[in-house]
Amino acid sequence: MNRTENQMLIIFGASGDLTARKLIPAIFNLALGGHLPENFVVLGTSRSDISDEEFRRNVVSESEHLEDDLNGKKKKVVEKFSGQLFYHKLNSDKDSGYAALKDRIISLNQEFHTDNNYIFYLSTPPSVYEPIAKELYEQDLHKEDKGWKRLIVEKPFGYSLKTAKELNRALQRYFKESQIYRIDHYLGKETVQNLLVTRFSNSIFEPLWNRNYIHHVEITNAESVGVEKRGGYYDKSGALRDMFQSHLLQIVALVVMEPPLNASPEEIRNEKLKALKSLRVMEDEKTLHENTMRAQYIASTIEGKAVNGYREEENVDPNSKTETFAALKFFVDNWRWADVPFYVRTAKRMPTKVTEVVIHFKSPHHQIFKDSGMNSKDNKLIIRIQPDEGILIKFGVKVPGQGFKVERANLDFYYSSLVENHIMEAYERLLLDAMQGDPTLYARADEVEAAWTFVDPILEYWKNSDEKVYGYSAGTWGPETADDLIEGSAGWRNPGAQLADDPNYCVIC
Ligand code: NDP
Repeated sequence: MNRTENQMLIIFGASGDLTARKLIPAIFNLALGGHLPENFVVLGTSRSDISDEEFRRNVVSESEHLEDDLNGKKKKVVEKFSGQLFYHKLNSDKDSGYAALKDRIISLNQEFHTDNNYIFYLSTPPSVYEPIAKELYEQDLHKEDKGWKRLIVEKPFGYSLKTAKELNRALQRYFKESQIYRIDHYLGKETVQNLLVTRFSNSIFEPLWNRNYIHHVEITNAESVGVEKRGGYYDKSGALRDMFQSHLLQIVALVVMEPPLNASPEEIRNEKLKALKSLRVMEDEKTLHENTMRAQYIASTIEGKAVNGYREEENVDPNSKTETFAALKFFVDNWRWADVPFYVRTAKRMPTKVTEVVIHFKSPHHQIFKDSGMNSKDNKLIIRIQPDEGILIKFGVKVPGQGFKVERANLDFYYSSLVENHIMEAYERLLLDAMQGDPTLYARADEVEAAWTFVDPILEYWKNSDEKVYGYSAGTWGPETADDLIEGSAGWRNPGAQLADDPNYCVIC
């Protein structure tokens, strides 16, 4: 196991939602699991005027996000954890703000012996990532002559290829690439990491993972909620930027990549980069028209409750063309995947919350049981990322009785059956990795840029063309025409909340 050295975590945006909802609960669980180093403190900072005590109350003792965790926990553990949290009001006066912050960091470092090792976590609006990095640089807080310094950056990493490059260059002006950790919480999910293990440590899958045996690959990311209170942000972003460019392309990279030489962070990230670079960029209008689809949810009734359409949501432009549903078909230009179509869709207000990868295998070349009903039932490997995490294999079995009627059976494995260990939440795992200096699950600058290279032309096409924005009733699996994207098959697999469900249902009333 890697060693976690003494250190200080400095969170910018400490008065914000992410800090209270994800970061502090993750650190609390690391504390409970005994993963924090002996000398460790958290210094939260933002412009709000709050004291250490108020900060502790907001994010620990009175936090709705920790309520369940605090119940039944020994008072001493909670008190010790709270005592490791501090807050510093960042003075908006540019000249004195960061010098005072540096003084506070130095004083806490001396008092708690955190060995000059600092992680700076930027949980602020992206517009201030660069100014904060610059200020830290000017205060010499990037220098590693005494202890190491790391910078964690939250998504979004840019808004387009151009802005992503600008952000990368800007951060790299002040910190070395090896110090920069771009967090994508999807990669912290056990089931996403398990994609690598499924592929590369099982000789029953590895030989089949190519164009000779795989017919097509399907990835669905569905959310049952709408944009909720994030309408203002979402309307400028959309499904393709919000989910596909980051999380889903990371999953695509893990499905597509070649085996790395070994499990070192750089080897894995090099292969992911090659995978992203091998996605065929769609450039001409005909290809973009035929292989991309966007839509918005419209008002409907779900389980008896009326729900707004996207354009009626708070802070959304009533004439908005921003997609809440995006579906793409694309190809991967390399030896392994030549001619194998990939279908990926992501959407809000679908019937259930689910993310899964479905590998559809080709039918056997020589069909013996032609009239058995098996032709239309391909073998599938379903890797469920969330919820009800697990793996399902669908294969043909003989229906008991005369003749050779074939039915499809399920072979399933559930992650929850591995109950002996606490399964770390994504932020927990990723924070611990950064604390130990392991960047494997963090995105490198070139990976982010390769992902934008693929996504940019689609966004440009949608912005500048008359490509339709379809409507779909909230609570359904998207516009009917989305099935047309998948040639020669029954369409998308519409999964249920449970891994082995096959409902194809719709909860519209
Ligand atoms: P919030 O708007 O809730 O919080 C933003 C924080 O940034 C506040 O604490 C604000 O505090 C602080 N802030 C704003 N300007 C500055 C500044 N100039 N210097 C220092 N601090 C500043 O946002 P979230 O917590 O929701 O999100 C933070 C980041 O994480 C965003 O980039 C977001 O995209 C990303 N993210 C969030 C997720 C979530 O679930 N919330 C999920 C994935 C990513 P103050 O005004 O007091 O300075």
